[in-house]
Amino acid sequence: MAKGKTPLRKCIGCNELFDKRSLIRIVKDSDGEFSIDSTGRKNGRGAYICKSKECLEKAIKNHGLERSFKVKIDKEIYDELQVELDALE
Ligand SMILES: [Zn+2]
Repeated sequence: MAKGKTPLRKCIGCNELFDKRSLIRIVKDSDGEFSIDSTGRKNGRGAYICKSKECLEKAIKNHGLERSFKVKIDKEIYDELQVELDALE
């Protein structure tokens, strides 16, 4: 099947594929600093998560970010995501 033009990314919580524009991007820059990339334009390696608290909880439980970046993730990053999700609701 031909793929659409919309890039799909996998959510680290539910592991489903979604249009990347509908997901929140978490980026690790060259200094190894993590941040939430609300513009989707930051440089670095990215991971994606649905704008859903359920997926955040799943990601925390299944260590989705750790698995995606293969490093230990500070709790602060998850806290930041929580804040981001709260702001969206
Ligand atoms: Zn999800």
